[in-house]
Formats: sequence, C-alpha cells, structure tokens
Amino acid sequence: MSLSVSHRTTAKGKPFLGVRYVNCQTYGRLYLNDEKNAYVGSCPRCGKRYQVLIGAKGTDSRMFIASC
Ligand SMILES: [Zn+2]
Repeated sequence: MSLSVSHRTTAKGKPFLGVRYVNCQTYGRLYLNDEKNAYVGSCPRCGKRYQVLIGAKGTDSRMFIASC
C-alpha cells in the first residue's frame, strides 16, 4: 500500500483519505463531511470516531495514523 496516495474519490465521487488505526492494526477511510471542513470516519473494528480538519490549521497529508 502506497503511503503517497493523493486525494482519491470513491466510485460515486466522494472524496476520502486513508487512515491507519494503529491500536486495532487496521485501515479505514475518512470521508468528507457535509460541511466540507473535515474528513470523518471511525475505526472499523472498535468504532472509535476520528476526524481530520481541513483549512488553515489542516494538513496536506493524505495518509493518517490514528490511535483508537
Ligand atoms: Zn480501533
């Protein structure tokens, strides 16, 4: 799996980012929320929510590490 993936979209065109949940050692996706100010998602194993804000304090990173 490449760590340099850039902005991708699903088949329906919804933007998402890849995220790695280190505690559960699994991968998931963060989807752009309706306000388009953050990518949000939750760990597929334990269900803990995680979000990445977009904007001045946001990040250009396209691969995130989450502790869940
Ligand atoms: Zn988890």
